[in-house]
Amino acid sequence: MRRYGLYVDGQWTPAGSGKTFEVYNPATGDVVGEVADASKEDVLRAVDAAHRAFPGWAAKTAKERSEILRRAYDLMVANLDELAVIMTTEQGKPLAEAKGEIQYAADFVLWYSEEAKRVYGETIPASFPHKRILVLRQPVGVVAAITPWNFPAAMITRKIAPALAAGCTVIVKPAKQTPLTACRLVEIFEEAGMPPGVVNLITGSRAAEIADTMLADERVRKITFTGSTEVGKQLMRKAADTVKHISLELGGHAPFLVFEDADIDAAAREVAASKFRNAGQTCVCTNRVYVHESIAEPFAEALAKRAASMKVGNGLEEGVVIGPLIDRQAAEKVEEHVRDAVQKGARVVTGGHRLSRAGTKGEVHFFEPTVLLDVSDDMLVLYEETFGPVAPVQTFRDDEEAVRKANDTRYGLAAYLFTRDLSRAVRVAESLEYGIVGINDGLPSVAQAPFGGFKESGLGREGGRHGIEEFLEIKYVSLALV
Ligand code: NAP
Repeated sequence: MRRYGLYVDGQWTPAGSGKTFEVYNPATGDVVGEVADASKEDVLRAVDAAHRAFPGWAAKTAKERSEILRRAYDLMVANLDELAVIMTTEQGKPLAEAKGEIQYAADFVLWYSEEAKRVYGETIPASFPHKRILVLRQPVGVVAAITPWNFPAAMITRKIAPALAAGCTVIVKPAKQTPLTACRLVEIFEEAGMPPGVVNLITGSRAAEIADTMLADERVRKITFTGSTEVGKQLMRKAADTVKHISLELGGHAPFLVFEDADIDAAAREVAASKFRNAGQTCVCTNRVYVHESIAEPFAEALAKRAASMKVGNGLEEGVVIGPLIDRQAAEKVEEHVRDAVQKGARVVTGGHRLSRAGTKGEVHFFEPTVLLDVSDDMLVLYEETFGPVAPVQTFRDDEEAVRKANDTRYGLAAYLFTRDLSRAVRVAESLEYGIVGINDGLPSVAQAPFGGFKESGLGREGGRHGIEEFLEIKYVSLALV
């Protein structure tokens, strides 16, 4: 049982109202933590602190900021096992995956500890002999970061590491289901030597009130959000009132194209890796599998064989690869998608059932890894994010049809394709309207690459050298020699 307050101006304090809320283990229903429930006044305290700390943090040398981030990286790695257990306990993903996420999250901190030192300016040839033009890149200011429950650590560091490296101060608002990982991470940043007010953490059960307070405040100059497209659009509208910088990492509906020349077993392995990670609860998880009609049956069998062998259960138990869904609503959505598909003619090759158990909170919800064949375009699974372990498989006749189907969505985050034909791989990758394309690779995310989506999957990029640009303003200085 872990208890945390709000972290504002270098101090852990209760919410002004004294209110708290509980955190549950989605695999057991047990209460595993209690955190402060912030209201508007607490958020304003955090904005005050971040605003006060900004000039001092921005004025530090890049090397000084880099060294603190580097210490935070070392501490994350030193505490990797503990952080992973906290994550599995509140989020449900299997321990091995949680360890992988902590390392991935730490990699952003390492990467931006290095990038902090490479925020270069420019000089531009002037129009007159007595003038000089200098281009400076400066931190945007106070940053508000709102993050989801499916990656309780990586979605935070992917935002705050580049923000801090650039010289911004931050206020983090994690999801209400997974605040404990965030609290422990902030303790680590504190231990690494972050000055008071540079990193602030606001936990709360009233997300809209917290976000609205940050959005309305002119001192917050940037909002960076990862979550649903629906909420992202609301934030974008509200950010307009104070013309804030905005980055959005939103929903996805990833297609996975398997061409007739693919190695069927290898393709099934990569589809399974992409589809069933985190029980299907990631924005880049495969949502639609398109397979050439000549190999549909053997491919579906190979995928079903892998799915059927996956052990479902509490992520802390040895051998479990599919943890619980985050809550009842999530389980009901997955169940509805499978029911809808079956009613409209889909065939369940394996799985298809919700496995609910009694937990102390009520029920806890698991779902069997599921493969559906004979899937048609009118089924919910083909156009709504399922966010669960369901792989709908549809066939295509030629490359043109495969690309058309893949692009037929309002989303554009990640897409995957499997082929041994190099020319086809390049042609198809170039035609896909997606920010991330995995060729024979179901798990492409790494800290040094620019992650982000086309269309309604978002705005901006996180990770890589591009990620720090999101936290920098460009200023030019025209200097006349007198
Ligand atoms: P969500 O409901 O949009 O929540 C995300 C965050 O926004 C949480 O902190 C949530 O707080 C907060 N929030 C909820 N309603 C809000 C409102 N009206 N105003 C301001 N903030 C609000 O999304 P989710 O269900 O947690 O996450 C799943 C979604 O995230 C999926 O669509 C997934 O594809 C997307 N995602 C995208 C990426 C990416 O990189 N593109 C990565 C991971 C996930 P509470 O927890 O308190 O509700």
